[in-house]
Amino acid sequence: MDQKKEDKGPFAEVALPLAVPLLFTYRIKKELLPFAKKGCRVLVPFRTGARTGIIVHTTDRRPKGVKRILFIVDVLDRVPVIPPIQLKLLLWISKYYHAFIGETIQLAVPNALSKKAIRKYSFSFFKEESSQEELNKISQKILKKAASIQIACSAKHLLAAIPEAKHFHLLELEKAGRLTSQYFHKEKVKVLTETMISRTQTPIHKTPGSKQKLIIEFLEKHGETSFQEFRELYKITRSTIKSLQNRNLISTREEEVFRDPFRRLHVEKRTKDPILTVDQEKAVNRLTEMLSKGGIALLHGVTGSGKTEVYLRVIRKVIAKGQRALVLLPEIGLTPQFVGVFRAALGDNIAVQHSGLTQGERFDQWRQIRDGNVQIVIGARSAIFAPIQKLGVIIVDEEHDGSFKQNDGVRYHARDVATVLGGLTNSLVILGSATPSLESIKNANDGRYLKLSLPTRVEKRPMPVFNVIDMRFQQQDKTNPMSRYVSDRLINEVKNAVLRKEQVILFLNRRGYASFVNCDHCGQTLECASCDITLTYHHRGKVVRCHYCGASEPKPNKCPACGSDKIELMGIGTEQIERYIQKELHEFKIGRLDRDSSRGSRLVEILNNFRRGELDVLIGTQMVTKGHDFHNVTLVGVINADQSLKFPDFRAGEHTFQLLTQVAGRAGRGKQQGNVFLQTYDPMHFTIRAVLSNDFVGSVKKEFSFRKRLHYPPFGHLIAFQISGINENYVFQIAHKLVPLLQHKLVEVLGPVKASLYRANASFRMQLLIKSITRKPLHELATKVLAFISTQNSLLQRQKIKIAIDVDPFSTI
Ligand code: ADP
Ligand code: ZN
Ligand code: ZN
Repeated sequence: MDQKKEDKGPFAEVALPLAVPLLFTYRIKKELLPFAKKGCRVLVPFRTGARTGIIVHTTDRRPKGVKRILFIVDVLDRVPVIPPIQLKLLLWISKYYHAFIGETIQLAVPNALSKKAIRKYSFSFFKEESSQEELNKISQKILKKAASIQIACSAKHLLAAIPEAKHFHLLELEKAGRLTSQYFHKEKVKVLTETMISRTQTPIHKTPGSKQKLIIEFLEKHGETSFQEFRELYKITRSTIKSLQNRNLISTREEEVFRDPFRRLHVEKRTKDPILTVDQEKAVNRLTEMLSKGGIALLHGVTGSGKTEVYLRVIRKVIAKGQRALVLLPEIGLTPQFVGVFRAALGDNIAVQHSGLTQGERFDQWRQIRDGNVQIVIGARSAIFAPIQKLGVIIVDEEHDGSFKQNDGVRYHARDVATVLGGLTNSLVILGSATPSLESIKNANDGRYLKLSLPTRVEKRPMPVFNVIDMRFQQQDKTNPMSRYVSDRLINEVKNAVLRKEQVILFLNRRGYASFVNCDHCGQTLECASCDITLTYHHRGKVVRCHYCGASEPKPNKCPACGSDKIELMGIGTEQIERYIQKELHEFKIGRLDRDSSRGSRLVEILNNFRRGELDVLIGTQMVTKGHDFHNVTLVGVINADQSLKFPDFRAGEHTFQLLTQVAGRAGRGKQQGNVFLQTYDPMHFTIRAVLSNDFVGSVKKEFSFRKRLHYPPFGHLIAFQISGINENYVFQIAHKLVPLLQHKLVEVLGPVKASLYRANASFRMQLLIKSITRKPLHELATKVLAFISTQNSLLQRQKIKIAIDVDPFSTI
């Protein structure tokens, strides 16, 4: 047989959503050739079934060493799901982050489109019985089974019925024409339509009923109207429409509609723009100049300096040029605020992309972007993959924020990816922050980024005033154990602020009620059975829960270790603060914002209630610290300012400075002066003092000198390898096996050490860190590790070990 001739091109290299470092080659049938474009989804045979993949390259060259090349079954898109630029970006990500190509590409495919297909077989009745003899016993059995089922059934189903049958038997039968196969796939999300109704020319002969008359008159007056509108206005039912339609008095058509996550967001259009401050104007002018060539700018503006207004003015220029804008935010709770401001000033041409949307909403927003129907895309980290064309500007707000780094799977950093996308599209990249990351500061100092600053708040509003509450001298009140955590002074300040009709934000980075459950008799602390983590008590539901793996169980009444019933709740979380404040200040309205209290629409609701002044005090975790612009907040209280200093991470100081400055920045954004109260046990700590004196420069200087000395970023680079598995010994062995691979004269190897969260999700985790002044040797070593993962794949699978590569790790704990 002439195998070579049979396997002639053209070929497509397809990325399948699998954890392998390869592309898969398939042949393209002539009739599919016009459609098989890069970035399109294709259905391809894979093992016993079919998979959906994305075409990454097309070529005429036959790949070497491949025996049989199968055909693409179908091309699923007429317009590529991933436009060429975004595809390039994904290939860059896969290479730079040493991530599997198929998993990387998947980041840009909406969930709604990642369908699973199954191959179904049915018996072909058109063949003569005579050919039966040529078939072996197994094949005969298969045919008999297929014939008895009568409807198409999956390969899996057929093979399960005949244990000795293999998939190739099915393929042979198909080749012989005895079985036919078809691929079936399910759409996860439907394209929604709406019935549009209009009046026909047909004159009315018989007087219609009153409801019917209403409809006809309405249509004659207002023209085409949707069924939905009739239903809302006059409670019209489908059957009324039907009967009018039967009499030919009206006609209907189905129109595609897009689910709009912000349909309930009411926005007053802006009547006139605020007059820019001198610094804002300077920034807007410089940024506008940059629009033609592209480049990266770091916009360092203190909290309340009006960065959003600068973004907005630049976006307006971009849109005027016929280009589009992408805005990345660190927290999905901020999207309504931004969408509101942007809609008021720029109109409704905005789409959002983040995980808080329903799958249908997200898909519809995505289609609006792909079809070029919107000019602005706003979203969290993953919005970086939105299929935007003609990109003119990319804005990363609060660029220092850790949420831009993905911590599992493909471990990309959306800010860094944004700078690459900027380069690929020649667009302007604006990184904005009140507390820029040390990486960005250094890039600006080195002249790679243009540095712009907004050193003062708008309308000459003063920066908030800091006050320290030294918790070491807090009077212990035996009758009130909570006074250990919340000082009377803070309670009084909160009370006074609310009595002045102002609002308060209280920040504590711990959700739940009590952070420990302790036995007073034997000293045992309740820990998660599968993680090295103390269980947090949640009053709601009266359960203890692991904040790492999410496992929860009812709070035990007796100590599991000694059986004593002297079980005590220690430490605090937002839930308990909320109860305590509510008890102390019972006439006030108090809300809570954390992962327990608020997801999705509930989150937006709480923020809106607070904005409208229906809540006096908002208590929350990190979610309350970022970017919110509430004008009536004059007081911010930090329950435990030392909390994040204690992390054994080289960025702990930087992060604490950022966190405290950000949360403080929520105060005094309106006419009234803002006040911040920091409760701390360590008021002399350098970072706390730097925050107090608003000394960003001093804090950077100190951090720089230590990082420079130890070659930590931004004066060196890191790649982390995390080795995890359920067998402690195997994890230990593999971690040590990697060490010899990592020898390089320009590279320092740290570890292997136990990760600070050593046991998590019932597996053990060890970490290796490599550090160097330049990136190149680190990437060479990561490539070696990736090769190790491929060649040792069966060993790793047998020992159930995972090796994760984390390029530019955000935290090293
Ligand atoms: P940042 O993001 O820098 O913390 P925002 O962009 O949220 O600050 O702006 C803070 C507040 O100042 C917002 O309410 C905004 O509407 C207002 N603002 C911005 N620019 C001006 C200006 N030039 N004049 C008056 N108010 C402004
Ligand atoms: Zn005990
Ligand atoms: Zn756990």
